[in-house]
Amino acid sequence: MDLEGRVIVISGASSGIGAATARDLAGRGASVALLARRRDRIEDLASSLAGQGSLAVPMDLSKPKESERAAEAVMNHFGRVDAVVNNAGQMLLASFENQPATEWEEMISVNLLGAMRLTKAFLPALLSSKGDVVNVSSVAGRKARALSGGYSATKWGMNGWSEALRQELSPKGCRVIVVEPGAVETELYTHISDAKVRASSAQMYQEVGAIDASEVAKIIAFALGMPKGVSLNEILVRPTGQAY
Ligand code: NDP
Repeated sequence: MDLEGRVIVISGASSGIGAATARDLAGRGASVALLARRRDRIEDLASSLAGQGSLAVPMDLSKPKESERAAEAVMNHFGRVDAVVNNAGQMLLASFENQPATEWEEMISVNLLGAMRLTKAFLPALLSSKGDVVNVSSVAGRKARALSGGYSATKWGMNGWSEALRQELSPKGCRVIVVEPGAVETELYTHISDAKVRASSAQMYQEVGAIDASEVAKIIAFALGMPKGVSLNEILVRPTGQAY
């Protein structure tokens, strides 16, 4: 899949799926804008991809104004945008009974509102380039399970918003692509605050054979690299060992 010359914005590019996607897309000739809070990580990644033209944009998706600021920085640097990959997310699993409301609010703010705000900030650029939106949702956006109430709410929300957005943007030549991974080996579960839930998640990831983030990156590259007249609307991908 040749993505030569495309300018692609990736949120959550400081680790896991986002960093792997940045490496993969840059390897196919795309220029990448790397968004995340951890400045050192995205700056190091940007320097390692220097040949392809890359830009680190430190930002916090939970702060509404920062998406507009990021869009301005990217447009000033590259002058165009061909795709936005809404990948940043947090998975703070816990029981509804024990979880503090601040954790739901954080997930809703980053996983759902963050993706919506970022897309809105880049929308004029995307409409002008007939660009694409890739929303990294989750199996948890299709199957809710105990302990994933807050997280699932954000991913079900993302799926609903994505379908409405797809219907609005497809007549304008823009694709909306939803990617729904199962367990992927990243630092995602290490941020779970409840120690027991964190330990059982780590065990589950091991048992099902969590897939490498580079495999999800390849899927994103494949979807973006399809001819413009072909839109892979929704891609669900699990480790073979993950039955649920
Ligand atoms: P990681 O924890 O490795 O990556 C999450 C990324 O989100 C980081 O780059 C982090 O950067 C960024 N992020 C978190 N909060 C904010 C914020 N407030 N502002 C800006 N960026 C933020 O996990 P994954 O790579 O696994 O997760 C990527 C996506 O994939 C998520 O949406 C997740 O829900 C989804 N997913 C992952 C699965 C898995 O099993 N790993 C399964 C299904 C879906 P920083 O901390 O530097 O800001």
